[in-house]
Amino acid sequence: MTSRFNRDALFIGGAWVKADSGAVRAVFNPATGEQVGAVPEGGTAETRRAIEAAQKAFLSYRKTTAAERATMMRRLHDLLLENREELAVLLTSEQGKPLAEARAEIGASAAYILWFAEEARRVYGDTIPSPWRDRRIAVQHQPVGVVGAITPWNFPSSMLARKLGPALAAGCTVVAKPAPQTPLSGLAWGVLCQEAGFPDGVVNVITGDAIAVGQELTSNPLVRKITFTGSTGVGRKLVAQCAPTLKRVSMELGGNAPFIVFDDADLDRAVQGAMEGKFRNSGQTCVCVNRFYVQDGVYDRFLEKLTAAVNGLVVGNGQTEGVTQGPLIDAGAIKKVGAMVDDAVSKGGRVVVGGKLHELGRTFYAPTIIGDANAKMDLAREEIFGPVAALFRFSTEAEAIALANDTDYGLAAYFYTADLGRSVRVSEALDYGIVGINEGLVTTEVAPFGGVKQSGMGREGSKYGIEDYLDSKYVCVGGV
Ligand code: ADP
Repeated sequence: MTSRFNRDALFIGGAWVKADSGAVRAVFNPATGEQVGAVPEGGTAETRRAIEAAQKAFLSYRKTTAAERATMMRRLHDLLLENREELAVLLTSEQGKPLAEARAEIGASAAYILWFAEEARRVYGDTIPSPWRDRRIAVQHQPVGVVGAITPWNFPSSMLARKLGPALAAGCTVVAKPAPQTPLSGLAWGVLCQEAGFPDGVVNVITGDAIAVGQELTSNPLVRKITFTGSTGVGRKLVAQCAPTLKRVSMELGGNAPFIVFDDADLDRAVQGAMEGKFRNSGQTCVCVNRFYVQDGVYDRFLEKLTAAVNGLVVGNGQTEGVTQGPLIDAGAIKKVGAMVDDAVSKGGRVVVGGKLHELGRTFYAPTIIGDANAKMDLAREEIFGPVAALFRFSTEAEAIALANDTDYGLAAYFYTADLGRSVRVSEALDYGIVGINEGLVTTEVAPFGGVKQSGMGREGSKYGIEDYLDSKYVCVGGV
């Protein structure tokens, strides 16, 4: 694909360079299998150079004023929107999601950058009443330093926006490592940041061997913080790797989102929320619904309405206008989703629609509903990450809460009810970082996104999102 954003080089210290070995890795369109680009296979040495460039840049970038940083960030925001279509096409070509969703993702990236451009100017300190007559106490917030950012393939643009936004606003510099399936949208951030006028080395982008790059990012003492979005297993490893040098960590990990439909729910609204919460990005988001718990009294009617909605999905190449379900990311994803459906069927699940590869074949899985789901199935415990809705039955509110919380994860949860008292009780009882009441699409740059339990630590977006990128410094002035 020809686009000035489709790069075949690493972005280190403001320069576009090849891997030392000259090796490259091809990038494929998941919808067609065609090659859309090739990126360098960077490793330890390239990552070290990027970290050193980021540290050098940090020494001057940290001294910029908040207004100066905000100005560059506003330019970055404008560039995202001016190039929205080209960036969306590039994103869909390597990730597969429908163009409408890719355009929305670029819009979300711009929104995060603008939000943090504004927040840059609101990093206030404190003065604290002193217990001593001759001393004064102040607290300043300073950038933590070089940040290593590792991101997944499901939102190849906006997951970096959530990390670059607060980092750049706080005065940190960044070495970013996008996912190997979708490195082009990651490298595009290098082009955008360069055009927005960020000094060389403030943003660096490395593609290549995840383990080698990750090892260097997590062990190099110049890196002061690791921010990661991805699976819980990899997150756990990265936290352990950060322990010897005691880096700060922000972890946005896996989820196992429940979606509870109570008897008194507005079922049409619940179905609309279910479609957004389950089938967005073909079910490949960490806040996607994993378990639908539907109360006895409305189970059959909800299933019927959901089935009609699922039958209305249009599966195909995301680049074709009108398509609402793209492919899964790769053959591995197809295998995993297929195995989960087979496991569910072998344990008593009933395939209501789908349940197999879509007729387009390859990376396309048919949107699926499994009825009569139960706790023994793999899909009750593990993240499905595919277009499979599993419906469980329940009888009482207490049972629904217990089932919803019966997981090691705690990212997003959703429930539908018209009862005000119940909405308060249930939202308080759910062990999750994000709760949607009568709403299946809750992500926005102005609200804190993040999990509890094994879904991670730290928050992205909102006024809280910048805190992870700042250290507090207590300054005591004596001899007053
Ligand atoms: P997913 O299952 O969604 O691909 P992963 O957690 O495997 O999620 O990947 C998320 C990001 O973490 C990707 O950029 C991937 O390359 C990176 N990654 C995977 N394993 C490691 C590792 N051992 N060290 C550092 N990064 C890794």
